[in-house]
Amino acid sequence: MPQNPEKIKDHVELFHQPEYQQLFQNKKEFENGHTPEEVQRVAEWTKTWEYREKNFAREALTINPAKGCQPLGAMFAAVGFEGTLPFVQGSQGCVAYFRTHLTRHYKEPFSGVSSSMTEDAAVFGGLQNMIDGLANAYALYKPKMIAVCTTCMAEVIGDDLGAFITNAKNAGSVPQDLPVPFAHTPSFVGSHITGYDNMMKGILSNLTAGKKKATSNGKINFIPGFDTYVENNREVKRIAELMGINYTLLSDNSDYVDSPNDGEFNMYPGGTKLEDAADSINAKATIALQAYSTSKTRDYIAKEWGQKVEVSRPWGIKGTDEFLMKLSELTGKAIPTELEVERGRAVDAMTDSHAWVHGKRFAIYGDPDLVYSVVGFMLEMGAEPVHILVHNTNEAFEKELRGLLDSSEFGKEAKIWGGKDLWHLRSLLFTEPVDLLIGNSYGKYLWRDCGVPLVRIGYPIMDRHHYHRYATVGYKGVINLLNWIVNTIFEEIDRNTNVPGKTDISYDLIR
Ligand code: SF4
Repeated sequence: MPQNPEKIKDHVELFHQPEYQQLFQNKKEFENGHTPEEVQRVAEWTKTWEYREKNFAREALTINPAKGCQPLGAMFAAVGFEGTLPFVQGSQGCVAYFRTHLTRHYKEPFSGVSSSMTEDAAVFGGLQNMIDGLANAYALYKPKMIAVCTTCMAEVIGDDLGAFITNAKNAGSVPQDLPVPFAHTPSFVGSHITGYDNMMKGILSNLTAGKKKATSNGKINFIPGFDTYVENNREVKRIAELMGINYTLLSDNSDYVDSPNDGEFNMYPGGTKLEDAADSINAKATIALQAYSTSKTRDYIAKEWGQKVEVSRPWGIKGTDEFLMKLSELTGKAIPTELEVERGRAVDAMTDSHAWVHGKRFAIYGDPDLVYSVVGFMLEMGAEPVHILVHNTNEAFEKELRGLLDSSEFGKEAKIWGGKDLWHLRSLLFTEPVDLLIGNSYGKYLWRDCGVPLVRIGYPIMDRHHYHRYATVGYKGVINLLNWIVNTIFEEIDRNTNVPGKTDISYDLIR
């Protein structure tokens, strides 16, 4: 039957139609399911302490991980360099997942190729896939650099990327002088932040080889880390420019993941110029804006380049103050009045919202640096962390976070749940409830189950638009964070006080 394009329903509406409702009912007949009462009984049981103990005794199963695969982070690092094509040695399905994950977050195309290894490569190794894949990728997409990483399959086989790339170049797949940095990124260890780190180190070591000069270029290198807030890159650049600092942002994907819609498809918008990246070895110092997604890169820069390397996270008032003072100390440049005024505005905004955030008990999950930074800001607001869940944790992070929590009277009762997943968090939220949950889009299932209002901060955010277009760093970032947090609290108050004649005495116009 011909379809009327005016009447096509999207899936929100479609599945409410009687024919679909009937279909769902019919399906139940064949599912051999339990009675609604039994389903309800078990659902209630999963909210108890008894179930929580069983849930936390779990060893060999992850449910709803709060982390991604290493190659996803490696591809994210790679696209921040001019003309760079990520190339994944491994299975096609993995790469489709990385691309769609990033595309669903940014609503932007995310290019990356796969060497599409299948059964024969699993038996004989993936050298031929690399030779053919590099040749095709170079011929079709004409990149200035191809950044190679791996999926689990290539790692299990033990593919030697360095040797394979040399062989592929000798076979004429790509020109000898085309930079083809690589990183081994097995996802059975680490997470997307490890992949970011491995690829960043791989790219920098490739591009800077033989580029060391006797004198410094006087610049400051910034490494953002696995930071998906595109406006943060622009904010760091703006701050550096306001202070008159000559800088190189190493992996600047701000144009790539937020390109203008001008009617022309550009596969490689923006990115750090390869010659600037090559010259980063001659900078005065490097500042990493995250610690745990840059640890190997920082070690490499300190040891191999002999460069001063610092970590500074410009989140909240304290973090931004420290960042600006660090910049001033390293460069001798003064902090301009414009930034002082911005600081004043941020403090004013915090004062406006303080009464509503102070004393709120919250749970948070996400990557180590993001969690550390948001917790730091929430402590500045007098909020009280209760559950802090970081799946891709490590000992150094937990020690640093404990130091932060102990430094505030509001942080002392917080528990750090390292290596746990979102199904663990569900048990925590039912047995020890909180006022607020902070995390990525996957938290909406916890919001639905547990009824805790969700502030969407982190990666990925797939079910709301444009958050990534706002900064979370600097004094402007303070105001954006506050906006998301305090207005979520207000939405919840409105929702809980909107019954006419019953609860609406507090359904106030003014908050
Ligand atoms: S865990 Fe390994 S096999 Fe699975 S999607 Fe990630 S890279 Fe691919």
